[in-house]
Amino acid sequence: MPPVPRPGILEIAAYVGGEARLGGHNRVIKLSSNEGALGPSPLAVAAYEAEKGEIHRYPDGGAAELRAAIGAAWGLDPERIVCGAGSDDLLCLLAQAYGGPGTETIVTEHAFAMHPIYARYAGSTVVTAAERGLTADVDAMLACVSPRTTLVLLANPNNPTGTMLPWEEVRRLRRGLPEHVLLVLDAAYAEYLDDPRCSAAIELVDEAGANTVMTRTFSKIYGLGGLRLGWAYAPAAIVDVLNRIRSPFNASRPAQAAAIAALADVRHVEASRAHNARWRRWLVEALAAHGIPVHGTAGNFVLADFAAAGRDAAAADAALRARGIIVRPMGGYGLPGCLRISIGTGEEMAAVAEAVAAFMSGTAGERARA
Ligand SMILES: *Cc1c(COP(=O)(O)O)cnc(C)c1O
Repeated sequence: MPPVPRPGILEIAAYVGGEARLGGHNRVIKLSSNEGALGPSPLAVAAYEAEKGEIHRYPDGGAAELRAAIGAAWGLDPERIVCGAGSDDLLCLLAQAYGGPGTETIVTEHAFAMHPIYARYAGSTVVTAAERGLTADVDAMLACVSPRTTLVLLANPNNPTGTMLPWEEVRRLRRGLPEHVLLVLDAAYAEYLDDPRCSAAIELVDEAGANTVMTRTFSKIYGLGGLRLGWAYAPAAIVDVLNRIRSPFNASRPAQAAAIAALADVRHVEASRAHNARWRRWLVEALAAHGIPVHGTAGNFVLADFAAAGRDAAAADAALRARGIIVRPMGGYGLPGCLRISIGTGEEMAAVAEAVAAFMSGTAGERARA
């Protein structure tokens, strides 16, 4: 008998990331993974390159300098920060530490796909709370609570819907959850909000009964997804738990150096935020001109509803791909009528608008349906 994994593992469907290549196109426009339109700060790239003579050395396992930089940037105690190989790393650790067989983890209907995957990997039973208007619904989430609930995962803003629960509602969720239930606020898109510090989530972590965690990432506005770096802001007892179970060097040396430089380049971050707001508005209007509504627009992407415009999203996807544009089909999220489009450069957004216009006025793309 060959080795078999723990029960439940083989029922997990592997995550499918955004595609990066298209046959027949040398230059593709990749708008499938919300990677940040302007890429990393040149200072972050320089800091990354400066590490090349040292890559035989292990990084600082405690990421002290990076945690100090994060703390200084957002006014947080570095002792309450834990870094990881992307926020994914931390979400997985939290699911393991606070879930497990016999427990239930609550996720939202159109949650980020990794939330239920990590919960299942932990052996937890996943309980899915219905949304209202593609937005998390606090009453539905609270109705999912049972004596076995130990963990609630909520991305705010959420990916892929782009919708956001008002923080007052998140507070109501926290108040309604039993004290022993851990609430994880996945704030991967925090830096695109009007309050990029995400103060409301930080206050919740500080005020709630040591039972709330916020996770953040360097993969989106900082444009460092390829380096894998995220962090959690957590109560001291949870920091202690994460430090006991994380792999000792889960933030690589070049990643730590690049992230410190990225945090320092405030102008680049500001430019990225302004760029995103401008072109997100522009793309929403370009889509609206063809009767294509979008759902939430809180992040660096829009969820375009082709079905609501009476058109086939798969055909629209094919028409975009024919022009070398890769966006994210949403069938895997149960939203087959939608495409998620990351905000890219102005040139990339113009190419999307042109392709959508051609698709909406012609029949070329519809061939994909046959
Ligand atoms: C992109 C994303 C993440 C993961 O980011 P990494 O730090 O690259 O692992 C987590 N949550 C949500 C909602 C995301 O969209």
